[in-house]
Amino acid sequence: MRIQSRLTLIFTGIVAVIMLIASFTIYYLQYNYRQSEIRMRLATKARNYTRLLVTVAEVDSNLLRIIDRNDIGALPNEQIQIFDNNFNRIYRSSNNQKVAIDRAMFNSILAKQSLNFEIENYEGIGQVVHEHNHDYVVIAAATDLYGLRKLSYLREVLLLVYGISIIVVLISGRIFAGKALEPVTAMIKQVDSIDYTSLSSRLKENGSSDEMSLLAQTFNKMLERLSATFKVQRDFVANASHELRTPLTSITGQLEVVLMKERSNEEYRTALESVLDDITNLGLTSNRLLMLAQASSKMTEFSFAPTRIDEVLWQSQAELLKRRPDYKIEINFYDLPEDDTQLTVNGNDQLLKTMATNLMENGCKYSSDNTVQVQLSVYRGLVQLIFSDQGIGIAKEDLVHIFEPFYRSTNAITVKGHGLGLSLVRRIVDIHNGKIKVLSEPGVGSAFIITFPLYNS
Ligand code: ADP
Repeated sequence: MRIQSRLTLIFTGIVAVIMLIASFTIYYLQYNYRQSEIRMRLATKARNYTRLLVTVAEVDSNLLRIIDRNDIGALPNEQIQIFDNNFNRIYRSSNNQKVAIDRAMFNSILAKQSLNFEIENYEGIGQVVHEHNHDYVVIAAATDLYGLRKLSYLREVLLLVYGISIIVVLISGRIFAGKALEPVTAMIKQVDSIDYTSLSSRLKENGSSDEMSLLAQTFNKMLERLSATFKVQRDFVANASHELRTPLTSITGQLEVVLMKERSNEEYRTALESVLDDITNLGLTSNRLLMLAQASSKMTEFSFAPTRIDEVLWQSQAELLKRRPDYKIEINFYDLPEDDTQLTVNGNDQLLKTMATNLMENGCKYSSDNTVQVQLSVYRGLVQLIFSDQGIGIAKEDLVHIFEPFYRSTNAITVKGHGLGLSLVRRIVDIHNGKIKVLSEPGVGSAFIITFPLYNS
């Protein structure tokens, strides 16, 4: 059910219940008032007639009946009977008495002094009247024609007002709910027209601070984040295709040139070595891309285990030196705990090695002495790694971008690279709950400082 219909129904339901309670209360109070009024009139008349009959010598039951018949204030079908205390009737207003009382009722009135009763459509009162040291039991009854007619009219009025009110509330509630939900309907239309090709469009914000405006602002912020992510993805795909296509084009070109005519063995060797170099490069790039994709997915497939960080450094050094024997990698330990098994972090050694190798390789390849210093220290439950070099350094404006995939600063153009290493490093540090910081100055050198929580802390 739509919110507009639900709001209308709830609103109408509440009003209907309130009005029902109010109508019943009015009706009940009116009913009680009518009843007590007729009983009061009957009681007064009963007392007066008894007094007339008993105390005024000139008035006997015949005269009293004549007086009664000519009483213009009498109630419809009014009947009065007076008994002495031995249940002998000494007066009745007409011979045709509709209200007959028996001994039990008579005794009950004597005992209680006053008793209200309803017999068929007669309402009446029985009461003990004390005159001249005698007790008389007087029964007075009548049909409350006017009161009941008034009551039935009231019932009709209440029903009519109730019905009309519910219809008015239903219609006005629907209009009101529709008006209140107009901004939501408009927003639904706008959101419906947005797809991945129109992520730059924004919802209208009406500038106020109501919930609708806040919703539009929040939605627009989400669109901004989404379109930024889409842009990164698009750029990533474009850059990745470029990085993969360049060596392929170079390989094709070289092979075509070589095959144009017969070559000497020496020429074939040189061409094949160059092609091999391109293929190795291509393999490295695709490996890094794959690893970046895996490390970026939320459900990382890498398993974590307690890993000795010093061993990661030694193994990364050995791996890199195998590939680049001309590099110098100096590893130093500071403030290490007595128990060197405490140099353990919860991590994946393959990822940690990739991280260390990348940072060691960068330090060497971006410095003229091809040297990187690695420092390992432990303090306050954290293990800290610093990869520093005295190389070309990084300009301030580049520092904010170097962790973006495929970003390469201008002063690094002469050095071979793809701009993927640091984005992979940052992702690896992130999934190990670590932190990374860079200090660098062009022409002086760079330091990448990484901290990880220790396994047992
Ligand atoms: P690549 O080294 O393949 O270009 P990276 O992601 O490892 O890619 O590095 C991104 C950029 O950061 C590099 O192109 C370079 O400009 C800069 N950079 C990274 N490490 C260093 C370093 N130790 N010294 C100077 N510049 C560096």
